[in-house]
Formats: sequence, structure tokens, C-alpha cells
Amino acid sequence: MSSAAEGHRSGHSLALQLAVYFSGVFGLIAILGSLLLFQLVRSHTLEEIDDDILRQKSELVRILHDGDAETVREEFAAIAMASGTTDYFVRLTDADGRVIQASDLKAWPDVPFARQVLAGEVVGTERFQTLELPDLRRQARLLSVRVDAERYLQIGVSLEDSVLFFDLFRRVGLLILAIMVGLGGLTGWALARKAMTGVEGVTAAATRIADGHFDERVQVAGQGREIDSLVAAFNTMAGRVQTVLTEMRQVNDNIAHDLRSPLTRIRGLAENAVVGGSVVGEGAEIAGSIVEECDRLMQVINTMLDITEAEAGLGGLKLAELDLAELVGQVVELFAGVAEDKGVALAGEVAGPVPVRADRRKLQRALANLVDNAIKYSPAGSRVRVTASRRDGSAVLSVSDTGPGIAPDDLPRIFDRFFRSDRSRHQPGNGLGLSLAQAVAHAHGGAIEAAPAPGGGSVFTLVFPAGKVG
Ligand code: ADP
Repeated sequence: MSSAAEGHRSGHSLALQLAVYFSGVFGLIAILGSLLLFQLVRSHTLEEIDDDILRQKSELVRILHDGDAETVREEFAAIAMASGTTDYFVRLTDADGRVIQASDLKAWPDVPFARQVLAGEVVGTERFQTLELPDLRRQARLLSVRVDAERYLQIGVSLEDSVLFFDLFRRVGLLILAIMVGLGGLTGWALARKAMTGVEGVTAAATRIADGHFDERVQVAGQGREIDSLVAAFNTMAGRVQTVLTEMRQVNDNIAHDLRSPLTRIRGLAENAVVGGSVVGEGAEIAGSIVEECDRLMQVINTMLDITEAEAGLGGLKLAELDLAELVGQVVELFAGVAEDKGVALAGEVAGPVPVRADRRKLQRALANLVDNAIKYSPAGSRVRVTASRRDGSAVLSVSDTGPGIAPDDLPRIFDRFFRSDRSRHQPGNGLGLSLAQAVAHAHGGAIEAAPAPGGGSVFTLVFPAGKVG
């Protein structure tokens, strides 16, 4: 995978970030809104209850002032009956805390006496408080009033119904919170997905271009002005890059072509001079060297032109059914002598036929370059292994050696044209072998990779993807 794609994967995706952000904002709004509403409803409810209690108190105080003892007793009993003894209570006490009149107090234990609540307060003072009644798991609202110098009145109202209502409110609030968080996440994710479709298209195209597919363009349109402008700018840039590259290659090819004829002539002249006997001694030696150098240069030029041809893509390939296992056997046979001379153990390993549709001659050259390198750069006593296999539907050729390996700094550059590592300069070569192998792999829709071999040395892998193989 190219570094562009790796960069794309690191960090959190924008869709995820936006989803989390929206969830947070929606959640916060839901929490604040629910809390505000809850407080409003709660204070309004308590106010209503307090108003009811005050009305009740006014009525009772009036009876206490105007009515006789019997009327007061009857009124107390009637009130208690009407509301049920757990919902409501009234209590009239004297200055010493003795109960003068009270409704049924069984469900109201430990209610503080008005005298305690209103200690030292003047006649007419009234005070509200909220009681926790833990034994009954409920709250109550209590009003204590100093009716006159001798008497204190208390009215208590259970908040059970209100507490149940608040509880329900809390549950509904939590449900709304969950819905808002989910909705926020979905909204953020959907928005980011929509906005990012174009950007992902650009990333995918840039990755493919980085892998050498310079004709790649982004096909996304109608994703909003900003994205459309980005796509248009990207496509223009990709077009420019392709034009410049094509022109550069054209110039390279022209130079290579133009060099061929003079080189052939120089070679011919030098060869004729030696064969014809017009130069002898040192002159003949020089003429011989000229022939050799011309051959070397010619090989470089031919390889460069071969790479260009392979890079032109499938059009230049002569595709036919062939078996990679058979190819491995042929290459091993071809290099057996060279390997033996060098003291390198060369072996082919195949488990069975690996059919592909490919250009035999080009594949042979690519594989030969890899095997040639493996033998060339490995010292005597090393082992070189060539394999052909199938992996996840792809056909795979691999060449591994137990040689010196490739320096990590060199690894990204070894497929560049004319690249030779400093430590390989004493070996014959022109730095084009791996470029050609890569061009052949790409032409077949495949890829080539170099990696350090597990026990030292290097391993080169040529992969022909599923669908492209026979
Ligand atoms: P050349 O072999 O002509 O130098 P290549 O393109 O085939 O050119 O290889 C480029 C460079 O990659 C080599 O110069 C060498 O440094 C390195 N290389 C290739 N194959 C191997 C290998 N099997 N072991 C170590 N280094 C290698």
C-alpha cells in the first residue's frame, strides 16, 4: 500500500469526529433543556401545592378564630377524611407542644413540632419546609404557623404524586437525551459522509496516481461548490502532471532512439578496424573496449525503451495462457550455471501449476532480473529460492535470498530508474533491472514489492491480482 493511503488511515475519520461532536452538542442541549424544563415544572408544581396549603390554612385559621371547639374538631376530622391520612395531615398544638387537635398522624411520624420550627417567632409567622420521610420513601411539604400566643397550626401535604411525576419526567428526560445523542451522532456522521464523498474520491485518485496510474481522474460531481472546485483543480493538476510526464518520456525516448544509430555506427567502425587489421596492438585493444562499451550503452538504451514500452500498459503486451510454475523451472535452469559458479544454492519451489494470462517474454525478463540480482548481490554460501504460488486468488512469484539485504534508506528508491546503492557499485549493472520488473508488473495490473527477508537477505514479490490471472 502506498504512503498516501497509509496517511489517509491514520487519525480519526472526520465522520467519526463530527458524529462525536454532534452527539456532544445535541446531548448538551438535551441535558440543559431538560434541566431547565424540570426546574420550571418543579417550582411551578411546588408553588401550586403551597398555594393550596395556604388556602387551607386561611380557612382553618378563620375557623380557629371564629368557631367553637366542636366546630374545630369536626373540621379537622373532615379534612383528614377527605384527603386520606397518608396524603395530608393537620395538627394544632399549644405553646408547650401538646396536641390540641390533629388528624390521623400514623403515617406522619417524627414531624417536627411547630414550636421548634418557629422558635421565638412572633404571632402570624408562617414557614414552609420540605420534609424527607425516609421510612415511607416520600417527601412532604409542611407549613407551620403561629396562630396566636397559645396555638400553633401545622399542615402537611405528601409530595408522593409529584415525586412520581418528577421521576417519570426524569426518565423521559433520559430517553430524550439518548435519542438526541443518537440523532446527533447520525446527523454528524451523515453530514460528514456526504461532504467527504468528493474528498475520498480525490484521495483514491491521488493514491492511484501515486501508484503510477497517471490517467486517473476524479469522477465525483455535484457535491457542493467547494468540493466540485477541489475536484476540478485536482483533475487539472493531474492532467498537467500527465502531460509533463508524457512529454518527458517522449524526450527520453527520442534521445534513446537518436543515440542508437550513431552508437551502431561507432561500434561498426571500431569492429571493422579490429577485424580489418587497420589497427594493431594498443589501438586494437582500445577498439575492442569501444565495442564493449557500445554494447553496454546499447543494452541500457534498449532496456530504457523496453521499460517505456511496458509502461504503455496492456496495449503493448502479448497475452497468452502460461504457467508460473513452469516459468520458475525455466529460470532456475537458466541461472543454474551462474549460481553454481558463484557458490550460491539456487532452488525453485512450486506446489502445482499457477496459470496466468500474461506476456511470457516480459515476465521471463522480469523474473530473470530478480534472480540475477539475488545471485549477484549474495556472497558464496548463500541460498536463493524462487517460488510460484496462489494467495487469495492472486498469482504470486517470489525470489528470496540470504544475501546482505537492502539498506532501509535505499528500499524506497530501488525501483527508480538508474538507482544503484553505494554498496552495489562494484558489481556490474545499470540500475534498470528493477525498474523494468516493476513496469512489467504494472503493465499486467500487478505489483512488485521488496522487503527484508525474515532471516536476513531480501525477498522480492510479484503479485498478479485476482481477476487479472487466468
Ligand atoms: P542493478 O542490479 O543493475 O544495480 P537493479 O535495478 O536491478 O539494478 O537494482 C537496483 C539496486 O537494488 C541494486 O543496485 C542493489 O543495490 C539493490 N538490489 C536489488 N536486488 C537486490 C538483492 N537481491 N539484494 C540486495 N540488494 C539488491
